[in-house]
Amino acid sequence: MRRRSGPGPPGRSAPDLSRRSLLKTGAAWLALSALPSAAVDLSGGAPSLKRRRRKIRVAVIGAGAFGGWTALHLLRRGASVTLLDAWGPGNARSSSGGETRVIRATYGPDRAYVEMAARSLLLWKESERRWGRRLYRRTGVIWMAGKDDRYERASLPLLRDAGLACEELGPAEAARRYPQIDFDRVNWVLHERDAGYLLARRACQAVMEGFVSEGGEYRQAAAQPGEIAGGVMEGLPLSDGRRLSADHYVFACGPWLGPIFPEVIGERIIPTRQEVFFFGTPPGDPRFTEDRLPVWIDNGERIFYGIPGNEWRGFKVADDTRGARFEPTAGDRTPTAEGIRSARDYLAFRFPGMKDAPLLEARVCQYENAPGGHFIIDRHPQAANAWIAGGGSGHGFKHGPAIGERLAEMVMGARDPDPFFALSRPAAVGSHARPVRPGPLLVG
Ligand SMILES: Cc1cc2nc3c(=O)[nH]c(=O)nc-3n(C[C@H](O)[C@H](O)[C@H](O)COP(=O)(O)OP(=O)(O)OC[C@H]3O[C@@H](n4cnc5c(N)ncnc54)[C@H](O)[C@@H]3O)c2cc1C
Repeated sequence: MRRRSGPGPPGRSAPDLSRRSLLKTGAAWLALSALPSAAVDLSGGAPSLKRRRRKIRVAVIGAGAFGGWTALHLLRRGASVTLLDAWGPGNARSSSGGETRVIRATYGPDRAYVEMAARSLLLWKESERRWGRRLYRRTGVIWMAGKDDRYERASLPLLRDAGLACEELGPAEAARRYPQIDFDRVNWVLHERDAGYLLARRACQAVMEGFVSEGGEYRQAAAQPGEIAGGVMEGLPLSDGRRLSADHYVFACGPWLGPIFPEVIGERIIPTRQEVFFFGTPPGDPRFTEDRLPVWIDNGERIFYGIPGNEWRGFKVADDTRGARFEPTAGDRTPTAEGIRSARDYLAFRFPGMKDAPLLEARVCQYENAPGGHFIIDRHPQAANAWIAGGGSGHGFKHGPAIGERLAEMVMGARDPDPFFALSRPAAVGSHARPVRPGPLLVG
């Protein structure tokens, strides 16, 4: 029987025929997929099996933070990899687009993310050296903890276990170090010294260029999932009319994953509209540049966060509250007057020196929210050779290197999928991957 993995009733959860039937139907194929490195040579007529290596071919769809790094790690593990993107790595519609992303390892009680952030930080730094490009700025991150400081408290021992430098600052010490901040309603400050920010779209471009320079193939094309027959996905139809065949397919399509896999993902990933603002600092005033101010996260009633400096683009401010549901291809990216007003009010309260600062730029991006804010890194439940990575939920960028490494090992058969990132993980299990203040559409 042939099944299309494409259109079907939306909102259905992953079918539970998944693992067992997959194991039956896909097992034979998986055994075959191991053959490429041990093909039978029929030419000589001798009974001996000559071993000839054929690389495993993998197509990665989506060149954002998740897909780009996965493609690179697959290549480095010996696969022949084609990376596709409909609009380009870090394009303006993608969740990895825009200038900067925070890299931090404070994750409440979730050790998995702390360790992934620590691993990713190492890989970001290694890549900077390898490519001779600056992608990471070690500005430190300060968390302003409010009355409910369970998230920060739970993080401290995990940060120390991971060998990441951090310190606790009382409000008086915080005010002495950062006089440009009004610490009203802040009980204490967690300072992650090894944290900072990453250059977002430029890093996606750098990963793609690194991938190509090491022998990977990048193509600009949109792909649809192939038909699934006998537990295996077949070649992908491409927007240019061609078909792409590989041994494995990795779908790292960010906020597009729901419509691409309506039955398997559907409502498990909900994109929400998020506005980001860049305000102009007073002329010649160094107080709001990254030399004087770290990245900051105000974990109060409502979570605001920001990145000073941003390579002189302005003082970045964003509200982490989930916005309205958003359609990433054609959704209206005009910032709202209400969003600008709210950011201004916040600035005047927390950074009085930025009161009435001019708005220089604004962007509308989307979070791709998965249950509990947890990533999905798993095998397609009906196709042994198809993989899904997404659900970055507003905190995925920094983890790109570690996610790519993990997924590449899974595809190459060196690692089992982790139940923590399973498609079937119920929303209610486990803690939230980030401190969440429910917005209207918050999942989990
Ligand atoms: C405003 C904002 C602030 C954020 N702040 C942070 C932060 O500070 N720190 C942090 O770590 N994370 C942050 N995040 C989250 C992080 O940026 C995302 O989780 C991450 O970038 C998601 O990467 P991705 O590769 O899964 O998705 P994407 O970057 O969206 O990549 C998916 C790619 O797939 C391509 N594609 C889709 N469909 C197809 C198709 N059919 N064929 C071919 N190509 C296709 C798209 O063009 C796109 O390039 C933030 C996100 C936003 C929006």
